[in-house]
Amino acid sequence: MMYITKRMIEIRNLLQKVGQSSTVTLPSIVVIGSQSSGKSSVLEAIVGHEFLPKGSNMITRRPIELTLVNDPEARTDYGEFPDLGLTRVTDFSLIQKTLTELNQSVPESLCVTDDPIRLTIHSPRIPDLSLIDLPGYIQVAGENQPRELKRKISELCDKYIRGPNIILAISAADTDLANSTALQASRRVDPRGERTIGVITKMDLVDPEKGAAVLTDRQYPLRLGYVGVISKLPSQTGLFRRETGNLLAGISRNEKSFFNTHPSQFGPDSGVNTGTITLRKKLMQVLEQTMSSKLQETTESIQRELEETTYQFKVQYNEQPMSAEAYLAASLDDFKHQFHDFTSSFGRAQLQGLLKDALDQKVLDQLAARYWNRPVEDLSVALPEPDNIADLPKADPKSPYWHRQLDTASSGLTRLGVGRLAATVAAVAVQSNIDKLLDKSSFSKHPSARKVISEAASTVLADRSYATSDGIEISLKPYKFDPDIQPNEWAQGREHVVGVLQGELDQCQAAMKTLESAVGGRKKMKEVMSFVDKARRGDVIVEGDHPSGAGGFSAALLARGREAVFLRDRADIITMRIAASKSRKCKTLESKYYCPEVFLDAVATKLSQTAVLFLNVEMLNDFYARFPREVEAKLHEHMAGGGLERFAREDPKVRRHLDLVHRKELLELVLAKIEDLHRFGGGSGGPGAGV
Ligand code: GDP
Repeated sequence: MMYITKRMIEIRNLLQKVGQSSTVTLPSIVVIGSQSSGKSSVLEAIVGHEFLPKGSNMITRRPIELTLVNDPEARTDYGEFPDLGLTRVTDFSLIQKTLTELNQSVPESLCVTDDPIRLTIHSPRIPDLSLIDLPGYIQVAGENQPRELKRKISELCDKYIRGPNIILAISAADTDLANSTALQASRRVDPRGERTIGVITKMDLVDPEKGAAVLTDRQYPLRLGYVGVISKLPSQTGLFRRETGNLLAGISRNEKSFFNTHPSQFGPDSGVNTGTITLRKKLMQVLEQTMSSKLQETTESIQRELEETTYQFKVQYNEQPMSAEAYLAASLDDFKHQFHDFTSSFGRAQLQGLLKDALDQKVLDQLAARYWNRPVEDLSVALPEPDNIADLPKADPKSPYWHRQLDTASSGLTRLGVGRLAATVAAVAVQSNIDKLLDKSSFSKHPSARKVISEAASTVLADRSYATSDGIEISLKPYKFDPDIQPNEWAQGREHVVGVLQGELDQCQAAMKTLESAVGGRKKMKEVMSFVDKARRGDVIVEGDHPSGAGGFSAALLARGREAVFLRDRADIITMRIAASKSRKCKTLESKYYCPEVFLDAVATKLSQTAVLFLNVEMLNDFYARFPREVEAKLHEHMAGGGLERFAREDPKVRRHLDLVHRKELLELVLAKIEDLHRFGGGSGGPGAGV
């Protein structure tokens, strides 16, 4: 018999998922009453459980949207808070605790809020009903309560008691009905009493004559009538405590024994309605009738909404379907495509270029340490002239000193851990390219998925790093003892190193410019530098740590001056070494002791060429094969448990598209359901239909 209500509640739940579908509203039963009128007791009797927040200071601050679902399959009664993701709560004291906490989460300054708490209760013993419990009207604001509390509660109730909702107006029998706030409020919005059910509680507290008179009140006649109830168990009844879940049975038994004792006032011929069971039946009937009478109207609003949504889908998205899966698949495809392009543009040659660049720096380090070093030390120490580098090209090829210098520099290069360096250079380059690809891909709008992919790259790279660097070291072993440079390698090295030296020279000069502008120009810098030079030669005596400067220059200025002198000397040496490398003297391998730059460059090239063979196969190709699979696996993990939907919705454009598609699908489903309802007996329109 409750077919329409049941289906309509299902439809309402679907509509809630549609989101802003506010134009379609389905009728509910709204429960209003003054504080202590017995409102909670009535609701709990209907549900058969104690579950509402209690306590003398407890003010309900949020509406509770209570959906009762008749569920013949349910083994035990349970509640669900869909907004909290709390399902199958079988302990009703926990439901009570949760409601209390949710209620208390409203700041006192706000008084009340219209943001409802949604609670669904499933039980084979309850009818399908949709009830809204509102804060109780307060007569006089308590000492610590804000003044506007009373007004705000009343405004909140006014919002809910509008049609098509049914009003359940609760008043206690032991108070004057004329003063009932609930009936006064309902009379304002339903003056003809067409959608109000009057509930008179505490019938046991007044004498039967008076009680019966209240139920036949003619002051505010209601088409749906008044029902008298006793929602409290007599205190000596220990049989029906909350754990039994049999609250209603106890209440009903108690009511029967009371009302049966006074047959002339409450008997079958008295014309009055009594008892919670009667009230419950009435609620079912009235809700079913109201739902039924709203069926046509609801259908039409859903149709209108669907039409509007379909239209939007057409104009905004040209009816292009969209799902989170499809979006991920497209994003991933696109990324893989970009990755594929990258793999064909980044191979052995590119790796070698990068590794050689890194080794060029190491060559420069060796040269600086073994050949070009002219440290400018503390100004207080007058240095002897350092080895005159300008003499190097004239170095005697038979001198063991120059042999040792070159051997040390060369082995410094071969033993610096080229394996580690190569693996790191490759990993850094690949990682930064992957990150760049990600920045250009649609994953850039999804930080957490982007991170997953980027980390997948690091994992795969790190996995091979150790074995690769080890392998490279083994392959380079022969060069550690004899680099074995061939004439053509020498020629290439000579050509290349000039460029490297020129680059270094440019950097020195740029650094010099920066220093000059930092001290206020070239002229000033010249003055400081000349002082530093003099101090170095011992022409001026500077004592101690000169923290406050010397020669009229501040300590900071002198520090810059020393730096500039260093840069100038370094630039002079490099200029000279460029000339030396270009000179005929450096043309052949035989003059390697004169031309360490060329020799070391050739060694570095040799190292990089050998290392890269290993690097390419062990690291790069391995990465290219494994990375796409790793990405798929890691994304799969990341997208589990609602992650996919969350991912897609991070992009506002996709979210809007998804929302619209989702809304359209839901509305289509709702419409199909509601059309079924029409077919199976509902929808004749008038009250009484479908009951
Ligand atoms: P609410 O503030 O309107 O929710 O009222 P409650 O349901 O908390 O009830 C207020 C007080 O009235 C509680 O002490 C209840 O036990 C008591 N009460 C509720 N209904 C009845 C009833 O029918 N008879 C009697 N004697 N007491 C009742």
